[in-house]
Amino acid sequence: MANDGLLIILSGPSGCGKGTIVSRILKEREDTILSVSVTTRAPRPGEIDGFHYRFITAEEFDNMVQRNDLLEYAQYSGNCYGTPRTAVEEHIKAGRNVILEIDVQGALQVMQRCDDYVSVFLTVPSMEELEKRLRGRGTEEESRVQARLTAAKEELEYVDRYQYRVLNDDLDEAVEQIHRIIETEKSRKNPQ
Ligand code: ADP
Ligand code: 5GP
Repeated sequence: MANDGLLIILSGPSGCGKGTIVSRILKEREDTILSVSVTTRAPRPGEIDGFHYRFITAEEFDNMVQRNDLLEYAQYSGNCYGTPRTAVEEHIKAGRNVILEIDVQGALQVMQRCDDYVSVFLTVPSMEELEKRLRGRGTEEESRVQARLTAAKEELEYVDRYQYRVLNDDLDEAVEQIHRIIETEKSRKNPQ
């Protein structure tokens, strides 16, 4: 029987590089997958339904909450986001590490509800650099950029609630640190 996989919570302010790092990790490891969240936000150009997110209506979201289908959920910058529970549980039982790329509110819920998880907070060298990355991505209107920067300042206050903090300055270095965390936690969970 396969050992259970890890439940990995990855948070960090919008624009810090979570998506970039996760896609590298997924490319470089066959044992790890990303949980596909549901959201009421509109897709960005290039985002694929069922891959980046499942894009659903507010009504569908409420139904999932009522049915207790979500492991955690939160509102972020005016939209709702949540993690479908069953898929996460099945992947972990099958031995796959599951990354939840979620905001701080959702992360705190998972920390409360699950007794075995690995939590990582991704940071940036400065707020100026965060703003540069957020604008450089070119996906947000000006008012949205401001809302995300305000949310970022609030989120940074929760960094101490996480087991690991990783600075995303040099991208390769940050990716390498996440690989090391996964290896360390795998051997902790399943000692040979
Ligand atoms: P998030 O998923 O946290 O919102 P993204 O992965 O979309 O962030 O990254 C935001 C922008 O920052 C993207 O344009 C990305 O290419 C860029 N970026 C990511 N990591 C770095 C890095 N280490 N140095 C410079 N730019 C980066
Ligand atoms: P974005 O709109 O930039 O894709 O995501 C905005 C924020 O929502 C990010 O901090 C992202 O990590 C978070 N997020 C994405 N999916 C989920 C989810 O399922 N639950 C929670 N709580 N946050 C999520």
